Amino acid sequence: MNIDGLRKACKGEVFTADDAPFLEAIHGNLWNRLIPERAPQAVVKAVDEDDVVAAVRFARESGLKVAVRGGGHNWCQPSLRHGGLLIDLSNFTKIISVDVEKRRAVIQPIVSNRDIQRALNPLGLAFPTGHCPQVKASGYLLGGGMAWNPTVWGSGAESVEAIELVTAQGELITASATENTDFFWAARGAGYGFFGIVTKYYLKLHPLPKAMHGSTYYYRLAEAPAIGAWLGTLAPSLSPAIELSLFIVQAPPELSGQAAAEKGWLCMVTATVFEDTPDAAKTALQALEQSPISPLSSSFATPVTFEQLFDASGSFWPEGARSHVEATYSDRSPGELVQSVLELLPKAPSATSVVLFTIFCGPDVPAAQKDMAYSVSAKVYGGPWSMWWKAEDDAANTDWHRQITTRLRPYNTGYYISETNTVERPASVPQAFTPEKWKRLCALRDKHDPDRLFFGYDDGFAD
Ligand SMILES: Cc1cc2nc3c(=O)[nH]c(=O)nc-3n(C[C@H](O)[C@H](O)[C@H](O)COP(=O)(O)OP(=O)(O)OC[C@H]3O[C@@H](n4cnc5c(N)ncnc54)[C@H](O)[C@@H]3O)c2cc1C
Repeated sequence: MNIDGLRKACKGEVFTADDAPFLEAIHGNLWNRLIPERAPQAVVKAVDEDDVVAAVRFARESGLKVAVRGGGHNWCQPSLRHGGLLIDLSNFTKIISVDVEKRRAVIQPIVSNRDIQRALNPLGLAFPTGHCPQVKASGYLLGGGMAWNPTVWGSGAESVEAIELVTAQGELITASATENTDFFWAARGAGYGFFGIVTKYYLKLHPLPKAMHGSTYYYRLAEAPAIGAWLGTLAPSLSPAIELSLFIVQAPPELSGQAAAEKGWLCMVTATVFEDTPDAAKTALQALEQSPISPLSSSFATPVTFEQLFDASGSFWPEGARSHVEATYSDRSPGELVQSVLELLPKAPSATSVVLFTIFCGPDVPAAQKDMAYSVSAKVYGGPWSMWWKAEDDAANTDWHRQITTRLRPYNTGYYISETNTVERPASVPQAFTPEKWKRLCALRDKHDPDRLFFGYDDGFAD
């Protein structure tokens, strides 16, 4: 590889293993600190679209494959492959414009969920971002984007109107419903198998709901299957404006005594409603007050802001942890799902781990397929987010995670490309798409990246 040629072609910094900052450049912004031993031959920190074009053309001429780094949040780190050129987009951090009248924003990919919404709050607008504050639009939207207010707003990708991208041939193009439509279809759901580099997203914005309220209920762990069964039965009659989740988490300090027999674990149910008046919000949440089992503690219809929602999510997914994630979608009752793993929950080696099932609400669940690669549609989405802190605990947590996922697998109807360990289980990749969408995605990749410039779903991972 002619590294001087790359340095001449690009304005951004270029590092190889011979440079001291190389490891920091390839590992520094990875969210999951369980970092695999894969490394590119070089990394370029592109500063603008011209740099991305130049880097892609350099890779093509040099016979190098290309990996892309967005925000570094993907749990199984597909941005790290053995060899190739890593094009890092971490300099693409701008919200370029917000048009209040047209309800449209243009952003570079490395803008976080919190920062997108923070810019929109004072304008009375919203975008269906992901749940945790730090995750960037980049790979979140490319994977489809499981958003806040999912049943009303749909996935994040449903609110993408156009993208700008660099193709495998090194051309900067725009793709939308009327232009370069293959790319537009694939970029909304292909996740890390996309055959292009997105440098700009054009977003459709929504009115900010004027009355966002949340209820929280805590139950004993042993009661989680019964609560899950009840919520599964109730969900079709609930307002689609409710986002309903059942968590298995460590008890807050005031309930730790009551959860002591189950090593501090309990069941937490949260219901957040995105409405326009406090009355409508309270009415929508009322049905959750009629639980068949009395909660240990509860709070009803507390007003919340997006800032508070991000803080709450962020507290369950702390920065700096080592993680395994295999979330799946299922049409079975959440009660059955929880029951299948119940006896393993108090044996969790790490108190930081979370088991979460999001139960989609309203009569139109599972949602109809949309005209895009994103395929997730089910009654329930969830699984274990295993998180721990020390390398010495890797084996115990990996083993516990495997036990949980093995128990849940018979209930799965598929995976979400952005939140499952496809590096370890490549067979999960086609299961993240309907068979027709998977076939089309593979055909589009053959058409638009016939030389396989970009690493695909399964190459560059094996030693
Ligand atoms: C704490 C946490 C919370 C999360 N919560 C949610 C959630 O609520 N909803 C949800 O849907 N997901 C969620 N995710 C998953 C997250 O959306 C995905 O992991 C996503 O890939 C992260 O985007 P990224 O840019 O950081 O990805 P990266 O790890 O940087 O990239 C992964 C791969 O995506 C591709 N890629 C990324 N950006 C581009 C681009 N601009 N152009 C071309 N290819 C690109 C590349 O192939 C890259 O290798 C969460 C993840 C974390 C860590």
